[in-house]
Amino acid sequence: MRPEDARKEVVSKVAAACGFEVDESTLSPGTRQAISRLAATFRELVMAEQMLRLEKRSHGRVAMKIRKGLRMAEDEKVVRYGSDAERLRSQLNDGVGAVVRQILDEREAGRPPGPAALELRCPSCGANLDPASTGAVRCAYCGTECDMEKLGAP
Ligand SMILES: [Zn+2]
Repeated sequence: MRPEDARKEVVSKVAAACGFEVDESTLSPGTRQAISRLAATFRELVMAEQMLRLEKRSHGRVAMKIRKGLRMAEDEKVVRYGSDAERLRSQLNDGVGAVVRQILDEREAGRPPGPAALELRCPSCGANLDPASTGAVRCAYCGTECDMEKLGAP
């Protein structure tokens, strides 16, 4: 498997987990580095799975003919490749999860303030009023009595 194919595969896993298309050019350098590391893990996993398949196949063919000691050595290889593949698979899944959280956090941070971040200002001096307050509030700067509901507080 070529490195760029492994990378594409990882990006498509990440996109599937995010639930939207992921354009790599919009990601932070840190996220892109994490994706590179995952692509390397993914290639290792593909190789381990290939070795496991080959080992199982040859094991099946020769197992009948060989002595018991040799058969045990073959079994050990199958177990080793199997546990390698399992470790890499869970490493990949954890990594994809971390990248997805990173992407979602970055999107959240880059988003323009929504209604929740609405700034309520004193009508006479323009100072910020606490958006969590309700009813009548006295401006801390000029002392004007402000009606939060009239100013558009939720
Ligand atoms: Zn004021």
